[in-house]
Amino acid sequence: MISITGLHKSFGSATVLRGIDLEISQGEVVSVLGSSGSGKSTLIRCINGLEKIDGGRVTVDGFDVSKPRELADARKRSGTVFQLFNLYPHMTAVQNIALAPVEVLNVPRKDAEAEARRLLQQVGLSERADAYPAQLSGGQRQRVGICRALAMKPSYLLLDEVTSALDPEMTAEVLSILANIAKQGTTMVFVTHEIEFARSISTRIAFLDKGQMIADLPTEDFFSDKGMAMPRVAQFLSKMR
Ligand code: ADP
Ligand code: MG
Repeated sequence: MISITGLHKSFGSATVLRGIDLEISQGEVVSVLGSSGSGKSTLIRCINGLEKIDGGRVTVDGFDVSKPRELADARKRSGTVFQLFNLYPHMTAVQNIALAPVEVLNVPRKDAEAEARRLLQQVGLSERADAYPAQLSGGQRQRVGICRALAMKPSYLLLDEVTSALDPEMTAEVLSILANIAKQGTTMVFVTHEIEFARSISTRIAFLDKGQMIADLPTEDFFSDKGMAMPRVAQFLSKMR
């Protein structure tokens, strides 16, 4: 499980995360909601060790991300997909997906590429397997990005606003892929502005406000009177709809 206790993070004099506690178990789909600037991306970056944490503890399957010796193990366990399609432009879809399994896990290239093609088939991109990123639409690139994360067989998938740079049609196409992945029991931490989608796939909603997790509720409760009783949550939801 992902276990976060008392997480603090500052950039210079600006405190961005103020004591976050969050436990995520195998099979859960947790959506992290909150206004822009509330610290959602920073939280994701702290979970996969891209940011040095200033206080508290973050462990992934028991590996402490703040310990250099354990970081590689922690990172191998969480696959991350970001808002921007950070694919290597000089590599095809298959090559992008096979890269980390070959380099990090020492999977034979032939096997890694076969697995890449299988993943691409799952997201409806079989016929684009040998295309370069520039030859793909935004939605297709993001689907390749999801395959690249899945290729590492992560225990957890971290998704940070993966549809926010996409038009509505491409957003729908990527969200339907994610709904499928969630159905297969993949553990996901999902940062999104797609409130209705979050509601449909999440087991839990965590709500960040100015660096504090002010709500962490089963999805049903979050969208009921219980959530609405929290002024910040009610205000956020009314703005988003
Ligand atoms: P969100 O993803 O919820 O929009 P972020 O985690 O990106 O929020 O940012 C939270 C706050 O931290 C913002 O005020 C942002 O300006 C600040 N911040 C994020 N990354 C950095 C950084 N590398 N250096 C300085 N400030 C940062
Ligand atoms: Mg963000």
